[in-house]
Amino acid sequence: MSEERHIPGPPSELADTLNHWRELFQRKHAEDFEALKGLTGTDEPIFSFLVDYADIDDDDLLSLRFNEYPEATVEQANEVLRSMCAEYTDVRCVLRPIMFPNEKLKTVSSLRMRNRGKLVSLIVKIHDVGPRLGYIKKALYTCIVCGHREEIAQRVARERKRPRGPCKICLEEAERISGEPISYTLYKSLESLLQLTAEGSFYQDIQYLNAHDATAPDEQPIQIIIDDEYVDRHIPGQTIRINGVVYIDPIPDRNFVKDTRRILQVRALSIEEVS
Ligand SMILES: [Zn+2]
Repeated sequence: MSEERHIPGPPSELADTLNHWRELFQRKHAEDFEALKGLTGTDEPIFSFLVDYADIDDDDLLSLRFNEYPEATVEQANEVLRSMCAEYTDVRCVLRPIMFPNEKLKTVSSLRMRNRGKLVSLIVKIHDVGPRLGYIKKALYTCIVCGHREEIAQRVARERKRPRGPCKICLEEAERISGEPISYTLYKSLESLLQLTAEGSFYQDIQYLNAHDATAPDEQPIQIIIDDEYVDRHIPGQTIRINGVVYIDPIPDRNFVKDTRRILQVRALSIEEVS
């Protein structure tokens, strides 16, 4: 599997997924929309939209998509929430899938590279909390000639991705004027017209937690990546249940860029307090 996970499926499948999310929210979350009325982004920048795993699982399409492509499917849910909430508030709604079934419950020591991309639930004790960080989650590229904009989704701790090829508008224009395919040099110079625009790019707060199995404190710990409203909310010694996706990442202090060694991490999709 390549690093860039390709999400297959015709556009209609995407449209269906968005519709199914919308339907689920309408059916099960009227109270959340009610609670959002009157809230503003200044009091509450982020609203956690807690969705039961069982409700996702009841919908065959969502269940399939969520288990196969958890992060992309959550992003699609967030897109639906964005449009549904826009009429009430400027608070950013974030889908948090909770109450994963026990079959997803794993121990840290049982995780392996083959679990990459899978949904898991871990009960861990926090060992230490890293500094607050941010990363460019969506980079906005703007053409300095025509103003055409392209948004490119980025991954944490990876080289920033640029749009594929040159500005489409300027390319079409250049081809129209010359009446034939353009030269490689011109193609390359059209590529450099698209430049990262800091203003308009979306930065997400993240934080790394080092945690070990609540029941096996002497075993190897694991890194958990948390984001948005979960940042700066936890302290060492707390026991929490992490529902998330298994990631693999380059080892942190590699001394050559193409080092092939990897470590396991879990990107939290939600966090539940354990009493
Ligand atoms: Zn352009």
